[in-house]
Amino acid sequence: MTTILDELSAYADDLLNTRDVPDYPTALNGLQFQASGPVRGIAAAVDFSTRAIEGAKALDANLLIVHHGMFWGGLSPLTGAAYRRTRLLFDYNIAVYSSHIPLDCHPTLGNNVLLAKELRLTPSREFARYQGIYIGVAGDSDVPTKSLAEKATLFARQYGHATRTTPIADDRRTRRWGMCSGAGAAADTLQEAIDAGIDTLIVGEGPHWTAITAEENDLVIIYAGHYATETLGVCALSQHLADKCGVSWNFVSAPTGL
Ligand SMILES: [Zn+2]
Repeated sequence: MTTILDELSAYADDLLNTRDVPDYPTALNGLQFQASGPVRGIAAAVDFSTRAIEGAKALDANLLIVHHGMFWGGLSPLTGAAYRRTRLLFDYNIAVYSSHIPLDCHPTLGNNVLLAKELRLTPSREFARYQGIYIGVAGDSDVPTKSLAEKATLFARQYGHATRTTPIADDRRTRRWGMCSGAGAAADTLQEAIDAGIDTLIVGEGPHWTAITAEENDLVIIYAGHYATETLGVCALSQHLADKCGVSWNFVSAPTGL
């Protein structure tokens, strides 16, 4: 496999089905910042940030792969912090490739299938409909909800997050679960979970009111952290690309605390 940036990013676009997956306009999935020369190392990070750029530089990586890209915060002038970050990319000659929903919903490299695996859950259905596609996964199980929450706690702790849950009775079991990484406890997703008879919803984060709605519908929500639940996809994609083109890769830890 080539180490030519344009060819590697075109390969990633195809692999992730980037053109056909809907997303927020600010996601701008694909190659977001060009750099010169062949790719010699890949750094994976959840968010495009100064910490991520400096981490890539420290690893001598010249391709930074992120989930929340350079334009995530919306249209804004290249002044202040935005100018400083862009300047670093020029100075260090680091390219940026970003993949948001394509990397949430991918069947092998996606945040959701990989998080399910971490929590020893087996997905059997799609979940979390968004503009005609499904971002998350769902399945059946028979495990104590408290032990599932403990697994999520141990997972998220590696990434600096303290998992929170809605109240869980000691004898409660999870028989039908749904999962949507990141800001997964949105109104539509919560309603979809209730309609589908899901008893345990695993997400990154959600607004305060979602805890009330969940409790009143016999649903437990496990909030495992926006950052933590979106670490796996960028790592899997980076490892895949690095293996393909014979370069090294590493994860740049830059937890947000959320
Ligand atoms: Zn996210």
